[in-house]
Amino acid sequence: MIVTRFAPSPTGFLHIGSARTALFNYLFAKHHNGKFLLRVEDTDQARSTEETKNAIISSMEWLGLQWDQEIVYQSARAQRHKEAAQNLIEKGMAYYCFSTQEEIEIARNQAIASGASFIFQSPWRDADPSTYPKNQKPAIRLKVPKTGQTITHDLVQGDVKVENEHIDDIILLRSDQTPTYMLAVVVDDHDMGITHIIRGDDHLTNTPKQILLYQAFGWDVPQFAHIPLIHGPDGAKLSKRHGAVGVEWYKDAGYLPEAMCNYLLRLGWSHGNDEIISRTEAIEWFDIDHIGKSPSRLDFQKMNNINGHYIKVADNEYLSNIIINELKADPESSEYIKQGMNSLKTRANVLTELVNLGKIYLINQAIEISADAQEVINTTDNAFIDEITQLILA
Ligand code: GLU
Repeated sequence: MIVTRFAPSPTGFLHIGSARTALFNYLFAKHHNGKFLLRVEDTDQARSTEETKNAIISSMEWLGLQWDQEIVYQSARAQRHKEAAQNLIEKGMAYYCFSTQEEIEIARNQAIASGASFIFQSPWRDADPSTYPKNQKPAIRLKVPKTGQTITHDLVQGDVKVENEHIDDIILLRSDQTPTYMLAVVVDDHDMGITHIIRGDDHLTNTPKQILLYQAFGWDVPQFAHIPLIHGPDGAKLSKRHGAVGVEWYKDAGYLPEAMCNYLLRLGWSHGNDEIISRTEAIEWFDIDHIGKSPSRLDFQKMNNINGHYIKVADNEYLSNIIINELKADPESSEYIKQGMNSLKTRANVLTELVNLGKIYLINQAIEISADAQEVINTTDNAFIDEITQLILA
């Protein structure tokens, strides 16, 4: 059975790039009648609060990306991670390293000064345990092979080769006994039975290290698919500078979750020239082969058009209720809003626009008259305006 996962680190909001990663994992799993699991990587205690975790969960729910089984919280698995590291020590695949941060810094500075690239060679790799210092907590490092290559057979990027001599002995457990990301991610993915890891290509450089870890444990290596990141409209990697990076922002700005998912799907994956793709079609059609190999750019115009489409086909009752609630419309105005919905919804691309347009039906509220409209009124014969008014009210 195919099992995928989405493994966000809570930062306070769900980045739309991460939302797309979650969507791809969801669709891939559903396409194969597999499972889509959610693991919250909350090991950074300072950043992982109830609030930051909930922000992710509520955005996932809003997007309709329902995960299977219970959420796995990585922080709850620290003991398992520790035991796994110990297990590698016992198998002779890892070692205790007593080098301090200062010693590593000195070695790094020396390498840089001599123009060499820096790969830390721990003097403890083959040390005799009788030489271990007392009263000093060691880190645990993986014994990365000194020769050979590690190849990632990536389903999007193709084969990516790295010489093992360019990989340092990965820290698995820090000297304060906390597991590193590299250890936790491999142990968790293994224990959760993950078969396919679809994630942003910013993780591609971590992958050989993770493959080496799987091999050290003697576990099956999952399949990897690293997807290019989303860039802003200016072509630069999407960042807070671009403004709208969190899913929550889109929700507040009046985008519909179906439209967001449709837009994010098309951003980086294609099915011929199809632009409007329902959830059912997406599940039926999704594959890794049609994931694009170059970064995609956010295009708000396109997103607005797609959202406009979903507003047009949305249920009138559903849309009317949103406007009525938002405007706190009285029953009589609410009736007008419902009657006018067929026409209103053809003119709005986002819900906030629809709400604005709906204001025209509020009977107890003066209509805001724009400067342009005021100009027309001022220069038009009052008798003519009266005539029009009578016609409308008739
Ligand atoms: N928690 C990592 C992140 O948010 C993802 C880990 C992974 O997908 O392997 O970047």
